Amino acid sequence: MVETEVLKPDAGGIARASALLRGGGLVSFPTETVYGLGADATDDRAVARVFEAKGRPSFNPLIVHLPDAGAVAGYARLEGDAARLADAFWPGPITLVLPLREGGGLSPLVSAGLPTVAVRVPDHALARALLARAGRPVAAPSANPSGRISPTTAEHVLAGLAGRIEAVLDGGPCAVGVESTIIGFDPTPVLLRPGGLPVEAIEACLGGPLLHRAPDSTINAPGQLGSHYAPVAPLRLNAAAARPGERLLGFGPVEAAALNLSPSGDMVEAAANLFHHLHALDSGGAMPIAVSPIPDTGLGRAINDRLRRAAAPRG
Ligand code: AMP
Ligand code: MG
Repeated sequence: MVETEVLKPDAGGIARASALLRGGGLVSFPTETVYGLGADATDDRAVARVFEAKGRPSFNPLIVHLPDAGAVAGYARLEGDAARLADAFWPGPITLVLPLREGGGLSPLVSAGLPTVAVRVPDHALARALLARAGRPVAAPSANPSGRISPTTAEHVLAGLAGRIEAVLDGGPCAVGVESTIIGFDPTPVLLRPGGLPVEAIEACLGGPLLHRAPDSTINAPGQLGSHYAPVAPLRLNAAAARPGERLLGFGPVEAAALNLSPSGDMVEAAANLFHHLHALDSGGAMPIAVSPIPDTGLGRAINDRLRRAAAPRG
């Protein structure tokens, strides 16, 4: 449990919120859509804590918030139709799913191991002041426990997350009150989620109709991440020990692990290490990977969900 600070929407509040974010803390902040639950998007542990605080049962990708379009270049490629939409609508309630720039420093938990990242410049003076001051990309899903409705006041945030986050920056009620519209590129623009910016405005800007992603279709669609990050090497879950020819991805005080998600059995550390360790073991070739059992509680559910998808037979 942490004591959740309620910060005022003034210079002191922004300075405190920025310092907490830069130190790996979780800070809820207002945007024009809903309150976000922010973490430094370059800090694996901080991003892992977002999933823990929300009680999310899976590592679905998070939206990265930036103070202006110029800040995107370090993390993603903003070109063509995407650049046109950014020019027309940022700051504003539209999120663009862009090709990830390798080496940009974002935690792989932010993009759930995908080669794309969702970015947005919010149209809210306090949010932009915080983002500019923090000088970090801020990953932020809505600031509510998983499965509950999105918060549009600081009181809503506290009702769901008090004691689980370091602070909430109280900027009063959100103006739009629904989530951002999400656009992906296939490379033709595709509506991934309707939201605060009307589809008609986006179509007028693009000069043609948007494709709509059917909920059960493949790439990019929320909840459809199963096939995305699958290691080349086969995975065997709930392994007591490595068999000959296998490398062990450990959890807890196990012996002979090639890599260990968390020798002390700490779930936040394990989540923070998950994608890094999978990639590292995978780059060693197609040698099978055995994975120690991980308790299916709290963040362990999200870790196991990801491991099960990685272990699932692929066609
Ligand atoms: P929330 O975290 O509740 O604001 O929701 C974020 C939404 O953005 C979810 O529906 C995600 O699936 C979607 N999203 C974020 N990043 C990506 C990505 N790289 N590709 C596809 N969808 C994404
Ligand atoms: Mg949400």
